[in-house]
Amino acid sequence: MSDNCIFCKIAAGEIPSRMVYQDDQVVAFEDLNPQAPHHILLVPRKHIRTTLDLTTADNELIGHIHQVAGRIAHDLEFAEDGFRLVNNCNEGAGQSVWHIHFHLLGGRDLTWPPG
Ligand code: C5P
Repeated sequence: MSDNCIFCKIAAGEIPSRMVYQDDQVVAFEDLNPQAPHHILLVPRKHIRTTLDLTTADNELIGHIHQVAGRIAHDLEFAEDGFRLVNNCNEGAGQSVWHIHFHLLGGRDLTWPPG
């Protein structure tokens, strides 16, 4: 856990969130500023700053997060219509919280390329 990290605090239950899934490695909660009818953030409990800070020790964790994302989309019944799993890395890509996270977006048509 990193001091003053909002996602560490949400993962620890110190800041309330609309949690949709949690296990010993990852938490998933509704984004406060949703960009689609379904907009869920998947956040590892381990504090990792950005995708560039990942090491081979995190490979299983990242695979697990992808599996969990698919399961959530399936359970909330938007998987079949299509969904997107997005990681914004660094400011130029829109990263605003410095704890790695994946946006799970679904429930509407998602255009390509993204803005
Ligand atoms: O990719 P980026 O770092 O910009 O994503 C951060 C996301 O975290 C935003 O979509 C923002 O709405 C969300 N957020 C949240 N709850 C907070 C702080 C940020 O859902 N307390």
